[in-house]
This record gives sequence, structure tokens and C-alpha cells, in this order.
Amino acid sequence: MKKIALYADTTIYQFDELVPYITNVIVIERDHIAYVFDTFCGSEYMQCILEDLCGKEIQVIFSHHDFDHVFGAAAFEECKIIAHQKCCEWLKQYGQKQLKDQKQWLKGKEVNVLPNCTFEDEYVLCDTLKLVYTPGHTEDCITLIDLLHGCAYVGDNVEEPICEMTLHNPQVYLKTIEFYQSLKMRLIGAHTTFIEEDLLQKHHDYFYQMLNEEC
Ligand SMILES: [Zn+2]
Repeated sequence: MKKIALYADTTIYQFDELVPYITNVIVIERDHIAYVFDTFCGSEYMQCILEDLCGKEIQVIFSHHDFDHVFGAAAFEECKIIAHQKCCEWLKQYGQKQLKDQKQWLKGKEVNVLPNCTFEDEYVLCDTLKLVYTPGHTEDCITLIDLLHGCAYVGDNVEEPICEMTLHNPQVYLKTIEFYQSLKMRLIGAHTTFIEEDLLQKHHDYFYQMLNEEC
């Protein structure tokens, strides 16, 4: 695991065990709360974060339901766990299956921890942090927006090479990409850490073309 100090209150914990990807877990310590955005592949991986945050109140956020983002939540079972309502529905239905199918990647307690706080469109964490519903890579994807530093954490919605779309809806995906472009913020992904403007434009062109071919 590698730690990147992005801002004074923000650390990227970068894991490379899910070969060939790197996977980022973002920790933002603001006011008296530590927000943990995504949890990687198991409670064992989250021990270093628990140690660093020693005793601080933790709130966990799932960017979406995929196994490499949710199963570390077994380390945070007592915490507030926030996700889109569709993420919760999906985990209720398929979480156990996902635990079984992805067993080779998991390390630690194997528990399908469900979110205990869900939302539909937007959720305000504090004055400077909010979650926005941004379907794309999957139907339940959300984005964490940090207004203090002008930074948005986009999960798996933007990555190099062009993301895999499990929700086949280029129109919805394009809307999310256009939303990111309108933010004019620094973008950080779950598997592509620093997202350059041209990568975002590449995504825009890809879904725009797909949409027009379908018409
Ligand atoms: Zn992922």
C-alpha cells in the first residue's frame, strides 16, 4: 500500500493487490469526522486506515456496489455507511454471490455489509463535502465533491482505458461526463488517480458516438 498526501486533510491509500489495477481509497478528515470513500477488498486492508484514524469518528461511503469498493466495510461495521439506494438494493440481492465469486481477492472478514444510510439525488456530508448521484459505469455510481479543495472523486466512472459500462445507457453516462466537465474541478478516479482533461474528453466522444450510432 502506498499513501499519497493529496491535501493537508486528504490522503489517498493506494492498493496494488487487485492486479493489474491500482485501487484508491480516499480518506478526508474534516472537522471531527473522517470520511472514507470506498473500502477496497476486505477488512484486513483497512487496518492501516483504522490505525491512522485512531478513535476518530468514521463515516464510510461506497462509490458503487462492485466488490473492490465495498468489502472492506467489514472493518467499519459500527459506522455510518452511506451509498446510493440502488447500491443497497443491489448488495441485498447479489452481495453474497459477489463475496463467493470474488473470494480470491478478499482479505479479512467476509461479510456483506449493507449501507445504513442511502439517498437518491444528493447527500450533504458537511458544509464542504457532498455526494451526487452520477450513474455511468454502473447504475448506482455516486461522486464525492469537495468544495473546499475543488476536487471530485469519481470512482469508476472515468478511467484509462475507457471504462467498462455495465449499465448500457450511453445517454445517462454522457450526462455524467458532461456534469464532470462542467465542474471544472480536479478529478480523481478509483483506478486512474489523476484524470486529465483529455481523458474526460475521450470519454465524452466515446459515449457521444455510441449514442449517435444507436439513433
Ligand atoms: Zn472498481
